[in-house]
Amino acid sequence: MRGRMNSPWPTKVDPGVCHTCGQEAMVGVFGLTEMPASAGMGERCLAERAEPFSWLRRHVALVAAKGVRDRAAYENWLDKRKTYADGEYVTLREALVRYPITPGEIAREKQ
Ligand SMILES: [Zn+2]
Repeated sequence: MRGRMNSPWPTKVDPGVCHTCGQEAMVGVFGLTEMPASAGMGERCLAERAEPFSWLRRHVALVAAKGVRDRAAYENWLDKRKTYADGEYVTLREALVRYPITPGEIAREKQ
């Protein structure tokens, strides 16, 4: 199984597969920008500076749970951060327009 085809973004990938796109071989494990976490990344996603949407969603849910303090900085971050969904590279803002954070995801981060 390569990625999970019933989801618009990879949620689980096989060992050695890029966590961001679920399509290419991982070339190494890299720290993520906003989170104390790391992900296995492939060459293409590294070049695109894209990060896994599943992780970015958790961060966005956490921010939503805590409340956005600096709206301008947050909006800027949504536009700058790139991810992979629907088989293409998109900004985090675009990905969230397509797949908004659910109340359930926010509630989980409040615990
Ligand atoms: Zn990739």
